[in-house]
This record gives sequence, structure tokens and C-alpha cells, in this order.
Amino acid sequence: MSFGHRQAQWLGTCTNGVFAADVGVSAGFVGSRVPSLFNAGILSSQQRFDPRPVQESDGQLASVSSVDGAARLLRPAFTVERKWDSKVAVKIPFRYDDDFEYGKIHQISPLVRRIVANNPSRFTFRGTGTYVVGWGQVAVIDPGPLLDSHISAIANQLEGETISHILVTHTHSDHSPAARPLQRMCGAPIYGCRLPVQHHSDGPSAPVEEDIDANFRSTVEISDGDVLKGKNWTLKCVHTPGHMSNHFCFRLLEEKALFSGDHVMGWSTTVIVPPEGSMSDYMNSLDLLLEADDEVFYPTHGPSIRDPNPFVQAYKAHRIEREEQIVDCLKAGMTTVGEIVPIVYRNTDRALHAAAARSLFATLIKLWEEKKVLCDTEPKLNSSYRLDE
Ligand SMILES: [Zn+2]
Repeated sequence: MSFGHRQAQWLGTCTNGVFAADVGVSAGFVGSRVPSLFNAGILSSQQRFDPRPVQESDGQLASVSSVDGAARLLRPAFTVERKWDSKVAVKIPFRYDDDFEYGKIHQISPLVRRIVANNPSRFTFRGTGTYVVGWGQVAVIDPGPLLDSHISAIANQLEGETISHILVTHTHSDHSPAARPLQRMCGAPIYGCRLPVQHHSDGPSAPVEEDIDANFRSTVEISDGDVLKGKNWTLKCVHTPGHMSNHFCFRLLEEKALFSGDHVMGWSTTVIVPPEGSMSDYMNSLDLLLEADDEVFYPTHGPSIRDPNPFVQAYKAHRIEREEQIVDCLKAGMTTVGEIVPIVYRNTDRALHAAAARSLFATLIKLWEEKKVLCDTEPKLNSSYRLDE
């Protein structure tokens, strides 16, 4: 194990994707233990995903830069790793199979069809899945990125039908921007939620985040519990903050199905990047789903999730496991994100560590909010943390 290197990162300037890092760091990507998507060939083509050049990190990670520092941490690192190795790690039952053709509409249930945008990346998996609900007069959920081929495909594949509603789960650039051109074409109202304040991320390393669609304007601002009715379908709005504060899922009552956006995805865990993302909110929003009796989730990226309850339980267990690991590191004397990341994410591609740092930071904020962890200032990515003992 090496310490003290400035973190190189692959993630460059991601423009339209879900950060794959908690991907990278979740059960689906844990290096040598489980074949990763990269190893499995699913995400192996560098050309296909146009990765940005390897960059030096922004230096915000307070890395252990001295030999002394490394020596100081080697023993506690060894101790916590040995403890974790003796446990069975949480496994999330991810699915990577997804049968579709870009630009074509595919029926996936009596009332639901899907068109996938050709914007695959290590952040969006195989692309943004735009859902169509109903027949004749339809709702479109997550129109997707500003990608001409996708917007044309939606229009062409729905020729002869009327779009009566455009719904947006949240305002990341791979979900909402196509709402505007689609509205210009069909005139349907846009249902969604703007960010209450336009946050700025903590420091310049935004490349691990999805871009925010700052131009998003809804026609109708939605709230938790709102019910939208169309021809033979009913969608209930479920506010699920966490991935982003304005994230909503939509429940299709006729089919006990939930359009889960980026809140729960079948192929990876979800990025939580403060300040738009909140780990406390995220965990509460997972609990919300456990209280319901949905039979299937339709995420915006990746295949559907049947029998979602155990899946969500595993999602939660994974986050709790991460939290426990972070506490173990703090107990062992580590104090910064930069020190903890290489330990907690030791089996993860180092190229993803800068992104992993954001999720870890989100967890530290949650622990700080719960008064389990102390920080001398408002928590920052490069702050020093300690347990409240
Ligand atoms: Zn997103």
C-alpha cells in the first residue's frame, strides 16, 4: 500500500453523468474481490467512453505526504483492514444485463416503455433511460441530455401520440435539459423541482460530479405527495432528497412501480456529493422506499429492479458498512479524508479515489450532524475530524 501520492484521477471533466465512484467503490467494483464492470468488459473501452486525460488532483485531499506520515498510519491501517477482512462484506445484487437498441422504444410493462439515450459513460452506464407512461396520451419521465439524436428519437417513436406531461426526477444534465426542446415540440407542461439555492461545490474538483442543469425551469413545481393523472395512469410524486435535494421518484399506482431516477440504480450505488447531496437525507429517503410496497423500480440508468426491497436493504447496509469503516479509521487515529480514502477504498481503482473522497466526505458530514464526529470548523473536504469520545 502506498501513501503520499497525489491522487491522479481519470474523471476529468465529466459533463453528464452520474459519478461512478461509489460505483467504483461499491460491491460491483471492488477490485480483486468481485469482477468489476471494467474487468467484465462492460466499461472497458476507453474510446467508447472518451475518458479525459489523467489529471493531477486538485490537491484538496490532505494526503499523507511524508514518509513519517505513512509510517504513522501503517499500523492502524493494517489493524482496521484485518478487522474488515474477517467480516463478510455487504454485496448489492447489481444487474448489468440490459437489452435495448438506442433510439428505439421498448415496451417493458403494460403501461411503460423506455427509450435509452446514446450517452453511455462510466457515469451513466449505458445511457439515460427515458420512460414513457401510458398510450395515446403519455407522460415522459427524464427526457435526458441535450442530445439531438435522443430528442428526435422521442419525437419519432411517439409519432401519432400526444405527450401530456414531462416529468423530471432531478436537475442533473443527463436527466432534465431535453425537457425544454421537448416542450417546445409538444407544449406539455414540465413537472419538476428547482434547486432552492444554486450551490457551489466545495472546491474546484467538480469533475466527479454531474453537471447541474442551472437553466431548468418547471412549468409546475411539484411537492411530495402530488398526484398527476393521465389517460389510464396515475403518478404520485415522492420526494427523495439525498443524491440531490430536488430529487423525486414517481410511483405508478396502476403497476406498483417506482421510477427511481438516480436514487436507486440497479447497476451501481448513487453518488452523494455535498452540498447538493446529503447522506442523512439519502438514508432517510431509502427508508421511505422500504415503507412502500413497490414491486419494481425503473431507474434512469440501467435495468429494472424486481423485488426491490432486499435491494434497498443491501444499499443501506453498504452505506452503514462504509460508515462503520470510517469510524474505525477515526478510532485508529486517522483524521482526514485524504488519510481515510486509501484505507476504506483500498480495493478500488485509485483513479476513482478523488471521487470516492466526495462520498466519504458526505458520510463524515452525516456523522458530524449526528454529533458522533467533531470538526473544529464547518466540515470541509480538507478538514480534520475526530470522534466525540
Ligand atoms: Zn443525478
